[in-house]
Amino acid sequence: MMINSIYTHKEIFLRELISNASDATDKLYFKSLTDTSIDTSKLDIRIDLDKDARTITISDNGIGMTPDELEKNLGTIAKSDSLNFKNENEDDENMENIEVIGQFGVGFYSSFMVADRVEVVSKALGSDEAARWTSEGADGYTIEPCEKDTIGTVITLHVKENTENDDYDQYLEQYKIQELVKKYSDYIRYPIVMKMTSQVPDPDNEGEYITEEGDETLNSMVPLWRKSKGEIKNEDYNEFYKQKFYDYTDPALVIHSKTEGQATFDALMFIPKNAPFDFYSKEYEKGLQLYSNGVLIMDKCADLLPDYFSFVKGLVDSADLSLNISREILQHDHQLKIIAKAIDKKIKSELTKLLRKEREKYEEIFKTFGVQLKWGVYADYGMNKDGLKDLLLFKSSNGGYTTLKEYRDRMADSQDDIYYACGENEEKIALLPQCEAVKEKGFEVLYFTDDVDEFAIQMLMEYDGKHFANILKDDFDLSTDAEKEAIQKKNEDSKEWLEKMKNLLGDEVTAVKLTNKLGKHAVSLAAEGYVSLEMAKVFSQMPGGDGMKAQLVLEISSEHPIAEKLASSDDETLEKYTKILYNQARLIAGLSVDNPTELADSIAELMV
Ligand code: ADP
Repeated sequence: MMINSIYTHKEIFLRELISNASDATDKLYFKSLTDTSIDTSKLDIRIDLDKDARTITISDNGIGMTPDELEKNLGTIAKSDSLNFKNENEDDENMENIEVIGQFGVGFYSSFMVADRVEVVSKALGSDEAARWTSEGADGYTIEPCEKDTIGTVITLHVKENTENDDYDQYLEQYKIQELVKKYSDYIRYPIVMKMTSQVPDPDNEGEYITEEGDETLNSMVPLWRKSKGEIKNEDYNEFYKQKFYDYTDPALVIHSKTEGQATFDALMFIPKNAPFDFYSKEYEKGLQLYSNGVLIMDKCADLLPDYFSFVKGLVDSADLSLNISREILQHDHQLKIIAKAIDKKIKSELTKLLRKEREKYEEIFKTFGVQLKWGVYADYGMNKDGLKDLLLFKSSNGGYTTLKEYRDRMADSQDDIYYACGENEEKIALLPQCEAVKEKGFEVLYFTDDVDEFAIQMLMEYDGKHFANILKDDFDLSTDAEKEAIQKKNEDSKEWLEKMKNLLGDEVTAVKLTNKLGKHAVSLAAEGYVSLEMAKVFSQMPGGDGMKAQLVLEISSEHPIAEKLASSDDETLEKYTKILYNQARLIAGLSVDNPTELADSIAELMV
């Protein structure tokens, strides 16, 4: 799959191999901080081209691999996550979709995109045996002992012959390799050295040229995040992001900041366009890479990111962190806390700016990751709600997304509360009888479609002095005093048959009432007390959440002819109608009906 179909850009094999070499060198460097016997004075990555033999050789003097590690790391592609993922999704036509595959690091195996045979000779730090791993791709590999003087890894690619569609010869040209290193690996912090031959004028014979050979360092070695923003193009950021975080798509937002003061650090962060494939699984680990003065010390430092920003990818580089502290100590590092705080602030301010200046872009990000921000409001007893509330967006009857502030600014003086209704999607909420009635009165309604919405809002309690009101609650009432009196009277006059209905429904409802809130619609369910209908649905999906039931009130429109019909029905008819109306109300509320067949039969019987 990898060799033939993944990448249209075969050229990325080089950056993958260089990146592995750089990681291996980092590991050695990291070890040297506590082991002074390790010589780190000549760390580099070498590339050698041999046109006649058709080979590209990439050598590093990093930490190397033992024979076991060669076997484990390179031997079994079947263990790799990308293959597991493919197997599980064998029938999924999306697997044709390169974007899915592009989310995985292809790594070492990408070398088979340009080579028909690959040899890896490696010797690990602290080991005296070296081994050679050889493979021609999918059909397996061999490992044999061999001689190697120095620690490190040498990878030799035997480059494929050109075909009608593919030009492999180009990878044997030094200018091409030079270009690829510049493009993909410029920031690698070790010199990438290649022996270059060039034609220079012969000083002894005018007009003649001689061939000169010499080592040349191809990369600038300045990490992207250390460069000043003016020097960096958008493409540089995008390329860097995709390469480092295994994404196939450009990021939705880049945040590059240099901070000085209480803590001094560079941060380069990205918000992906799509949620990573494992984002909603428990395998997903949040965190930023942590560098100390350009040296990677931790790959996913979770303490640098609050949970509500767990979707942010990126890195932090600070000279303030001492390099040789152990990772446990790092967790409690005071400096780290200061940096984390500054990062939280930075992401918030960048998002706020985006919301104000590039609304569409912000909405796209919010669509993908907004639920995280809502959970952030709710989590930790609302500790972070103030910092997040103005980043929230909700769909509303005003059309599209709105912030709470925008809603607040549109509120009429006569409106006491911020109105909301919950449901499966905006279309369904908009069609709810209660919702239509509130909109007809000229008020705006927020549409809550995520499970977390109502919980987050309960945690907020109020926004700018206004409380939130669920228009699907039984006690939600916009009528005038006179109207209230009138409906109360109607309820009293109809007490007898309303009570009969309540008794017929037993524990299913706490009351059956006539209401003036439904306009032309006949029935509806409303919830009484703290637990709303939507909250009850969420609870019912949680283990042990069964006890958290909503208390339901069956509401019947006093303006609908059904009210009169019910009042004049005999007991047998009333029983039938009650069941039908209650089940209809459940359907409107998005709840299931216990016996749909019975419901259908009853309606059919009435029709006949
Ligand atoms: P990834 O780099 O994403 O882990 P790779 O397939 O590229 O996946 O590499 C698998 C593993 O092989 C690496 O994690 C590393 O442990 C090891 N490895 C690859 N190249 C080298 C190298 N040049 N030196 C030491 N170890 C290496």
